[in-house]
Amino acid sequence: MKYALLDRGDKLSEQLAGRFHQLAADKGFVHDSESPEMVISIGGDGTLLHAFHTFLHRIQEVAFIGVHTGHLGFYADWQANELDELVELMATASPKRILYPLAQIEVETSEGSISYLALNEFTLKGVDGTLVAQINVNDEMFEMFRGDGIVISTPTGSTAYNKSVGGAIIHPSIPSLQIAEIASINNRVYRTLGSSVILPQHHHCDIISRKEQRLVLNIDHLNIQRDDIQAIRCSVSSSQICFARYRPFPFWNRVREAFLGYDLTEGER
Ligand code: NAD
Repeated sequence: MKYALLDRGDKLSEQLAGRFHQLAADKGFVHDSESPEMVISIGGDGTLLHAFHTFLHRIQEVAFIGVHTGHLGFYADWQANELDELVELMATASPKRILYPLAQIEVETSEGSISYLALNEFTLKGVDGTLVAQINVNDEMFEMFRGDGIVISTPTGSTAYNKSVGGAIIHPSIPSLQIAEIASINNRVYRTLGSSVILPQHHHCDIISRKEQRLVLNIDHLNIQRDDIQAIRCSVSSSQICFARYRPFPFWNRVREAFLGYDLTEGER
């Protein structure tokens, strides 16, 4: 098996990375950062976002595994003390391949169009103040947004920034995008829907910049600032991310454990 490994860069993650390489070598796995079949991320959800963007060019060929060094993550489900078990399973068992939807973002600028994929979300904000943007759904005007920003999240990203701005949590088996507002201005003059909106796979939305404004786009942890964005098209990507699962990691258990703070017995995980 050919694998690549990314760690968060802190002492514990580096130690675990060293241990993983040792265990993997004993099983005859080959460390290959150019053309891996498995990508191991050691750290937290942020490390997995980095790993996703690092291996985006091989998204059809790789499967991801997340090891967390802090508390349980949404993408990182293996604990630091479970590396031996993980490597043993990688050597002997066939994993279930779990596919999660991604967001496709096409940014139209005065210099042409740039395409991105997001695992969690894409956010758009004004740099110098209020963002003013027209939102079209399926090529028809939906609303004129004025406010701090817009979050467009994937189902697995629905538990991240989207949740903080009041969006709903979407199960990742529903290929969709969620549009959520960040502090929209609503009064007799300006009006937006207020609640978040969920678009199915076959719909798309366009965010059209309605004034000369410097905008900041965040695609997961990446930050891009431009003053020449004309429009942004968001849709559910035809690509998906694949996670290699050697044991169940039910989404609703993750939600419960992360936000409600209680764990089930080992047997039920
Ligand atoms: P970070 O280190 O600030 O991490 C933010 C937190 O988000 C971490 O606790 C991480 O575990 C959690 N997180 C990441 N993905 C998640 C997911 N899918 N579901 C639930 N929690 C998740 O920043 P980072 O590590 O670079 O991660 C970038 C992410 O941070 C962005 O994709 C965005 O979702 C999130 N973020 C959240 C807010 C907010 O909630 N107000 C603001 C900015 C960014």
